[in-house]
Amino acid sequence: MNVQMSPPGECAGICDAIICFSHLRWNFVFQRPHHLLTRLARSFPVFFFEEPVHPAEGETPRLDISQHDGVTVIVPRLPASISTGGAGDAQRVLLDCFIAEQGILRPLLWYYTPMSLGFSDHLGAVATIYDCMDELSCFMGASPMLPQMEQRLLARADVLFTGGHSLYQAKRGLHANVHAVPSSVDVAHFRAARDIVEEPADQAAIPHPRLGFYGVIDERLDIALLGELSLLRPDWQIVLIGPVAKIDPARLPRQPNIHYLGPKSYDELPGYVAGWDVAIMPFALNEATRYISPTKTPEFLAAGRPVVSSAIVDVVEDYGKRGLVAIAEGAAGFAEEIGKILGRVEREDWLGEVDAALADLSWDVTCERMMAQIEKVAQAREGAIAVPPRPRRWAPLPRGFDYLIVGAGFAGAVLAERLAVGSGKRVLLIDRRPHIGGNAYDAYDDAGILVHRYGPHIFHTNSERIFNYLSRFTAWRPYEHRVLAYVDGHMVPIPINLTTINELYGLDLTPEGMEAFLAERSEPPETIRTSRDVVLAAVGSDLYQKFFEGYTRKQWGVDPSMLDKSVTARIPTRTNTDDRYFGDQFQAMPRHGYTRMFENMLDHRNIKVMLNTDYREVVEEIPHDRMIYTGPIDEFFNYRFGPLPYRSLQFRHVTLDRPSFQPRAVINYPSPKVPYTRITEYKHLTGQCHEKTSISFEFPCAEGDPYYPIPTPANAALYKRYQVLANTVPGVWFVGRLATYRYYNMDQVVGQALALYQQLSKMDGLIESSENDPSENLAAN
Ligand code: FAD
Ligand code: UDP
Repeated sequence: MNVQMSPPGECAGICDAIICFSHLRWNFVFQRPHHLLTRLARSFPVFFFEEPVHPAEGETPRLDISQHDGVTVIVPRLPASISTGGAGDAQRVLLDCFIAEQGILRPLLWYYTPMSLGFSDHLGAVATIYDCMDELSCFMGASPMLPQMEQRLLARADVLFTGGHSLYQAKRGLHANVHAVPSSVDVAHFRAARDIVEEPADQAAIPHPRLGFYGVIDERLDIALLGELSLLRPDWQIVLIGPVAKIDPARLPRQPNIHYLGPKSYDELPGYVAGWDVAIMPFALNEATRYISPTKTPEFLAAGRPVVSSAIVDVVEDYGKRGLVAIAEGAAGFAEEIGKILGRVEREDWLGEVDAALADLSWDVTCERMMAQIEKVAQAREGAIAVPPRPRRWAPLPRGFDYLIVGAGFAGAVLAERLAVGSGKRVLLIDRRPHIGGNAYDAYDDAGILVHRYGPHIFHTNSERIFNYLSRFTAWRPYEHRVLAYVDGHMVPIPINLTTINELYGLDLTPEGMEAFLAERSEPPETIRTSRDVVLAAVGSDLYQKFFEGYTRKQWGVDPSMLDKSVTARIPTRTNTDDRYFGDQFQAMPRHGYTRMFENMLDHRNIKVMLNTDYREVVEEIPHDRMIYTGPIDEFFNYRFGPLPYRSLQFRHVTLDRPSFQPRAVINYPSPKVPYTRITEYKHLTGQCHEKTSISFEFPCAEGDPYYPIPTPANAALYKRYQVLANTVPGVWFVGRLATYRYYNMDQVVGQALALYQQLSKMDGLIESSENDPSENLAAN
């Protein structure tokens, strides 16, 4: 896959390669990317990623690579049946391999379509450019995700270029660094048309007068108008060049005076235009054309052809008002304007006016203008990164940081994002692990399967605000968690439901029957205090022993009677057949995994992330005004009152040479005879297609990373002492599962962090409007 060209890095300048993502095919050459990128390719290696093609089934995903005019064009080939999520994953992997093979370290990312962010949003870049040529969301067949993806791209882009003035007006409020860059023209290329006499064979036999158009023939063209015009003036010949896309070819008007000559190469175009009497741009005035700025306008003019166009805003503004293009409405209007042109002797000075108008419109000048903007942002970034050599290892930046945040799990990442984006604070986020994401971290294992390094994490919440907040950083894969327990030789649903009882006891109870069954067995104590009480009250001792006693002893290292009731109260009992593990309103998995979601959260110039670093190594060296601490609270105070007990886990991750292992993502093994508590098969959670499968066994243990605060009365009392101490430390806030010693789910930690952000904003008098601030009204449980 390696491509021969000047090695990246040797090329002086702001980046070592330009990676461009496009919805257009390179071989449809008369487009803006072609003009800009062939010029840029004189100074940089340029890689142009097209949308994937889907060849025959059974092919492994790969990249087709070819060279065109100095640009390396790359077409991903994916299996036809691949899902949208699978296609994104495959492209991401192919892209990563390609970048690694090319040794690209400092790419400039250049987007023509925001949709490509779906598989490239993890890439670091010296700068990110969004070259917005069209309002793609208005095009036929546009993905409903486009507006959301565009928002994400706008949030990370350093510069936004718009293809025309009306698009500029529409987008100028959306980004701080927007520039209108209307399309230019290769005057010399098209000017040649004025002197061409030899006709291409397929056009030579078409009589005059000829009206010509080239471009994609799709919903932007007013097909009805063309049909009417051909009927209105059967003596005029209409020549159409270009591919038919998205619309049914059967819908095209087929009068004998309409000639579809198909797509032609860029080099051939002047030869065709030379033979037209009038160039026409019969665009429909619809959503799809509201913001277009057709490159062909100056090209037709450079070729010396008079032009008649529909009232496209940018054409009217740039050319119509200056008398360079005639604007017409409907078939009759076109006929009238074309008639006028055909009837008049060409004004001597007309071509002079055209040449004067086109003089400033060279692609070279446009390209230089764009690069000047890009250099500016790249240098500004470089300046922010390139700190001059300093005598001390952790020499601070001039002003230090507003916040030092310890821990890059949910608590730390949410606060970093809010403080940086919501309040403009400068944040240093530190984690002693080699990755972000805390316990929710996921990554591809050696077999290429996405696994959760610290056990299965399933997102569920009843809070729309929390769900909406996280949705800013990820798309979701709908997923409802269902778990089976292996009990007495049966695989039955847990939480216990009607199916569980009927299968386990060989019964055929109705919901009412099950209620009576449980009522008979229930052993309610006077007060429900412990995890044992909760289950005995709900289902009695037989089911308690089968499902809860062994599991809980293994999981927590103590008997359920020692644990607070809240632990087993997490698991409901149902008398119907609902076998979902959670009853929450929102249940889903981040479509591209948790780590990707965290990367998106932390991708902000005010956030610096330092991994493999315990905060104690650097806290004295890096000036900061405030600290947010999300690690274990007892460790922060050097275990002054003794260690708080945490339960840990050892994971055995295994990849099997078979496509699947078990019927559900998680199977629980409550029996005390089995040393692990559960087995997870990750492909159920992620939806990944792979010929192998990866699973993990969980072995609870006392020693190791602190995963679970253990909710017993003694531990709660010990934590209280630390909490009181924590309240006396000025400038440090404690948040998250370990720092507040709470058995919290992810959504609860997000809620807790958002509530703390709200509190900090209030303290600083920086209260955001509730519209923008997802933390509004969120109490910390
Ligand atoms: P963490 O994710 O633990 O992050 C704290 C970070 O601080 C860590 O990365 C740590 O390395 C870092 N740190 C600590 N001390 C220091 C230091 N001195 N210097 C630098 N860095 C430091 N929740 C759900 O909602 N659904 C689930 O399905 C689910 N499953 C789970 C399964 C398992 C096995 C476990 C253990 C938890 C599960 N959770 C689940 C809970 C979820 O993991 C937590 O709610 C969430 O990850 C807590 O986020 P946090 O930021 O508080 O802590
Ligand atoms: N539990 C159990 N048997 C099961 C499932 C859960 O005894 O099959 C108990 C156990 O004490 C566990 C608690 O219920 O720790 C909460 O389970 P949950 O699945 O919510 O725990 P998580 O692993 O998500 O923290």
